[in-house]
Amino acid sequence: MIIDLHAHSTASDGSDPPARLVAIAAETGLGAIALTDHDTQMGIEEAAAAAAHAGVELIPGVELSLQHERGGMHLLVLWLENGAGPLQNRLEGLRLGRDERNMRIVEQLSAAGLPLTIEEIVEQAGGGSVGRPHIAAVMMARGYVPDIRTAFDLWLGSGRPGYVGRARLDPGEAIGLARESGAVPVLSHPHTLGITTAGEMAAVLGPLADAGLVGLEAMYSSYRPHERDGYAHLARRFGLIPTGGSDYHGTYKPGLALGTGYGDLVVPGSVLDELREHASH
Ligand code: AMP
Ligand code: ZN
Ligand code: FE
Ligand code: FE
Repeated sequence: MIIDLHAHSTASDGSDPPARLVAIAAETGLGAIALTDHDTQMGIEEAAAAAAHAGVELIPGVELSLQHERGGMHLLVLWLENGAGPLQNRLEGLRLGRDERNMRIVEQLSAAGLPLTIEEIVEQAGGGSVGRPHIAAVMMARGYVPDIRTAFDLWLGSGRPGYVGRARLDPGEAIGLARESGAVPVLSHPHTLGITTAGEMAAVLGPLADAGLVGLEAMYSSYRPHERDGYAHLARRFGLIPTGGSDYHGTYKPGLALGTGYGDLVVPGSVLDELREHASH
């Protein structure tokens, strides 16, 4: 069995509605997918209903952005039960932080000569948790940039004129809240930490593992085979389970498929068995 433990829907910055995501999983022959929208569980109910009919297991989750000096620390929270709970209750505040940040991005881009409105960004998001990919899509529609990647490279990425930070959870607190909620925290795409030395990696991963981190995303779409092996090895050194997912976003990440990533991603179902033991429901 092949699975995918990292995917986004229209509930955040993916382009496929949750039920469509499940249908694509079934067409692709995936046995299970995790829905991990940014800061929201809004797509879970629809995805779970579709999964029940499609013969695909749906793992409910979210992806959080954490406070880290270099930026780029994301956490997948798997088996996060839909509804109220210690971590669940924090999600609305995180989405409000996004709204404030998005308004400031609009102000900065407008001041830089790229006028756009919060209304068209909210419309682009279609009712879901609003993120920078939606802003990038509006910039593309207005002809400011040729594609989403360029919008990030020139304007929205860290250090660019349209970059604005936002409130993020402390890593130890987020991992603690995830565990208290009965869910399984996994560090996403570790390369975005921007760490290059083994010593620094140990200094960051050690405390996360001590705080209750369960897995590390070693099988990721953009990784070469030796990177997947390297991260898997690193995970085991810290007692973490090497996990995997595509980070599918539909048209917001062109060329990246659910399950198979850029063509060579394979996440075995055995990962699910190992992770599941750490979920408390
Ligand atoms: P936000 O959560 O609103 O800060 O937006 C971050 C999201 O933007 C990430 O989760 C990715 O989905 C996307 N993203 C970040 N960097 C890039 C990039 N260089 N190109 C395309 N998408 C990106
Ligand atoms: Zn995203
Ligand atoms: Fe991420
Ligand atoms: Fe993601």
